[in-house]
Amino acid sequence: MAAARKAFVGWRDTPPKARAQVLHRWRVLLEAHLDELAWLASHENGKIVSEARASVEKGIECLEFAVALPNAETGGVLEVSRGITCAVRQEPLGIVAGIVPFNFPAMVPMWMAPLALCAGNAFILKPSEKVPYTALRMAELAEAAGLPPGVLQIVQGGRAVVEALCDHSEIKALAFVGSTKVAKLVYGRSTALGKRCLALGGANNHLVVVPDADPEMTATNVVASSMGSAGQRCMAASVMVAVGDVHHIVDLAVQKAAAIRLGDELGCIIDGEAVARIHRYIDDTVGRGAKLLLDGRGKRPVGVEGGYWVGPTVLDGVTADMPAGCDEIFGPVLSIIRVATLDQAIAIENGNPYGNAAAIYSSHGGTAEYAIARFSAGMCGVNVGVPVPREPFAFGGWNDSRFGYGDITGADGYRFWSQARKVTTTWALQKDATWMS
Ligand code: NAD
Repeated sequence: MAAARKAFVGWRDTPPKARAQVLHRWRVLLEAHLDELAWLASHENGKIVSEARASVEKGIECLEFAVALPNAETGGVLEVSRGITCAVRQEPLGIVAGIVPFNFPAMVPMWMAPLALCAGNAFILKPSEKVPYTALRMAELAEAAGLPPGVLQIVQGGRAVVEALCDHSEIKALAFVGSTKVAKLVYGRSTALGKRCLALGGANNHLVVVPDADPEMTATNVVASSMGSAGQRCMAASVMVAVGDVHHIVDLAVQKAAAIRLGDELGCIIDGEAVARIHRYIDDTVGRGAKLLLDGRGKRPVGVEGGYWVGPTVLDGVTADMPAGCDEIFGPVLSIIRVATLDQAIAIENGNPYGNAAAIYSSHGGTAEYAIARFSAGMCGVNVGVPVPREPFAFGGWNDSRFGYGDITGADGYRFWSQARKVTTTWALQKDATWMS
């Protein structure tokens, strides 16, 4: 905090365009170290290198948005009365902090740091204790780019550090990304002390497939959504709601999931506890009468001894009230719920407390629009199973997937990390001025 306090004043007083220049040099260094960062994120998280690389690239995209802000967010000025102008400018909040999860060690920090820094704050980032290295390396590169010491700091640790960040009176704003349980705790604790907080939580995303969906595109996309990052992402499809006769699409999806090469195309699970949790969900669902179309329990890449692995798993005949139908499993497990009508599918999606993402697979625009208008989710896809809005469109869900107001990236993110100062000015007394002119 002492370092942040000291650094903040100088950084606040650095013109926005000069701040953006430092961040631009950071971007150049991140690109130059792309392979190294992808390797680091892959090795500490377990995702395959190509996924890790894409996640670093996505983080860089967020940085590009922030670097462009001084050209887009120029404030505004208007003559509001004769001889009187009112101007608005965004100013930093002071010392602010971000707390991030294990599943995207490079990308999620970049949802926060560039915007918070571009706005002129001193930013403290707490990575997940499960993946402490990538964010640290990125911060080293920021320093190498010329970011003054103390403007971006990394503090490692777990719950005790999170609580200290929530409680510290000098931290003005706190962003959190992680599970819903912890998001609620962090949001409650920090807002009770008057802090600005935006806390993104977990998810249970529904992909609704209707009979006129393109079989090849749908099966490929559903499998990519549910199995990518080994299902350890908040945008993963966890539930496929199969409407009517879509057996041919289910069969194709199972074939494609079965063909995934564990280790090459599908990474590993974060730890043994997570593997045990995923197994518990599979066992429980089978015990409740669901059919196991593909069993990933006990699978590991040929010749690999260590690590924590679960292969692609598909459960059919799941119902919305089974734990696998309504919880976040966070593993490479696709649960299929069968229904007769699109309205039943929408009711299941709406009945889930989360609201991160939902998608409809159809070849008919009217059907797609009907579903999209009724889903209770902040990020919706039409034939897209991971509907992450790319910059400048902002990332953020609804319901129990988000506590607080606004999205975490894009213009909302910049507003979150800044405050508007309005300045009303006149330079000459107007002859006919009344007290209210
Ligand atoms: P997590 O909630 O366990 O941890 C997130 C952060 O909170 C970590 O930095 C951790 O150190 C800290 N933490 C953990 N327990 C805590 C406690 N009791 N008190 C205070 N702090 C605590 O989440 P995770 O397992 O690292 O990540 C997976 C979760 O994150 C999933 O639920 C996933 O959906 C969610 N996620 C959401 C988004 C989104 O945009 N909505 C994005 C990525 C991940």
